[in-house]
Amino acid sequence: MPLPQEIIGLGRPEITLVWEDEHRTVYRARDLRLRCRCAHCVEETSGAPLLDPATVPPDVVARHIELVGQYAIHIRWSDGHDTGIYSFRSLRENCPCATCQAARDRSPRR
Ligand SMILES: [Zn+2]
Ligand SMILES: [Zn+2]
Repeated sequence: MPLPQEIIGLGRPEITLVWEDEHRTVYRARDLRLRCRCAHCVEETSGAPLLDPATVPPDVVARHIELVGQYAIHIRWSDGHDTGIYSFRSLRENCPCATCQAARDRSPRR
């Protein structure tokens, strides 16, 4: 699993991760906010969504990004949400770029 070498996104509408294999992953800040899997946003046992997307402002941005050990980042958002942890693995596996999307579409679902 490659690690991100650079994470650019404070106060920006997009959050970019540059991986050590030079792949670039770009998330819209709000999409990443909506992807939060913390206990406030997703019911822990059932996985049911608790976050109402309507409560997340369209111009939400990251106010603070910090590393969590060697595996994740913690983002504090401008809407006051500050418990989100995003693992490098999920950030990379869900990369929304065309190349990664095509690779996911090709993967067999048997
Ligand atoms: Zn959350
Ligand atoms: Zn990608």
